[in-house]
Amino acid sequence: MSDPTVPKVILSYGLGVDSTAILVRWLTEPASRDFDLRDLLVVTAMTGDEWPRSGALVEEHILPLLRKHRVRYAQVARASCSQTDGIKVLDDSRAPRRLYLEGAYKLSDEMFEEGTIPQTGGKRLCSVKAKGWVLDTFIEDVTQGHPYRNAIGFEADELERVAKDFVQTVGKTERTAFFPLVEWGWNRLVCEEYLEAQLGVEWPKSACVYCPFAITSKAKRAAMVERWRVEPELGLFALLMEHNALALNPRMGLAGGLRMIDEVARLAPELAAKHRERLESTPHALYDVERAWYGAITAARRLTVLDTGSKRQMEARLAAGGGDVEVGEDGILRKWIVRSTPGSKLRRRDVERFLVAAPQLARAKGNKALDTAWKDWETGAPLKPPRAKKGQAREIARLMVVAYGREEAEAKAIDLALDQKTPLSLEIVAAIRGAS
Ligand code: SF4
Repeated sequence: MSDPTVPKVILSYGLGVDSTAILVRWLTEPASRDFDLRDLLVVTAMTGDEWPRSGALVEEHILPLLRKHRVRYAQVARASCSQTDGIKVLDDSRAPRRLYLEGAYKLSDEMFEEGTIPQTGGKRLCSVKAKGWVLDTFIEDVTQGHPYRNAIGFEADELERVAKDFVQTVGKTERTAFFPLVEWGWNRLVCEEYLEAQLGVEWPKSACVYCPFAITSKAKRAAMVERWRVEPELGLFALLMEHNALALNPRMGLAGGLRMIDEVARLAPELAAKHRERLESTPHALYDVERAWYGAITAARRLTVLDTGSKRQMEARLAAGGGDVEVGEDGILRKWIVRSTPGSKLRRRDVERFLVAAPQLARAKGNKALDTAWKDWETGAPLKPPRAKKGQAREIARLMVVAYGREEAEAKAIDLALDQKTPLSLEIVAAIRGAS
């Protein structure tokens, strides 16, 4: 049963170093806070793909503290891929016994079904969808329009993020953000040392096991491969996600376009071999992939399943009858029907089509926009972007504002509109301005 009290202070608890340090200090040093613990709500949005070690440490060290002080702790997640299905409250208790790390509809469920990976091109839209929106929805529900203070775990040297948060929440009278680590002058190192001194453990960074933002440098990629080597099932999971996306789009690679399978093959060849072996026994589908680009960020894809079976059977079917069959430099066999223009970059209007045998994980997806794209392409006419769906501009505008803050979102939307000159891009600018 949900707790009927209206919280006055809310901590968005991401399970990582920063918010854990705040929580432990509040629970163990009453002088560090100016509120009663009865008024506190701690809330975590579960992506479903967090490192198990983070979960084990929270269960061992944090849940007992929350139980001891009777602090309300809610665990929430997306109910499905569609926001219209709302969120799922996994637990909401002042005596939490376990962590629901598995979430409900996982971020990885979405990635596999869509045949993609979290994108690093903009800001963390995966996080906005799997965490930010879930938290906002739950908090709105429990605060019922009453004012509350929202503690955010930005570190003392992250003042730019603090400023951005202020910009994003202008006009939201019920929420007042505050930043305990900034007030205390604590940076990451202080938080890590504090947790080690208090709990006797090295607290790990929280993230999804495949997080592309955790592999943005050579050293970080090597550290990730080492983590996967120690926990091979998690590594194989991440590699399957990358392979699934890569098969359907040769430009994919978990590390911002770079393929993690190449890093793994170099640093942990036994894991790469296991990945290849696993793929051989994974049910496959023969996909017909059609893609059209309309400019800087707009692309449309149609995915058709032609057949299903073993990897070997699907590759044999693909190769039957010859044609432009090629093993790409990613090691994946494709039959090209139309290749996109070599060298063309993101600001293009272009098409491509190929057949590929890929794990039977991505959902077939129709897309009538491709019919128009092929007609335009055959007649040599410039590709016309598809008409915006009802509410689409508003939803994109909302995500951009959450990800970038209002001012930057507007600047980016204007750039996009100048580049694309499409009705959708103009509607996005109008939606961002209308929300100001
Ligand atoms: S941890 Fe990484 S992959 Fe997971 S939601 Fe956050 S940014 Fe996205």
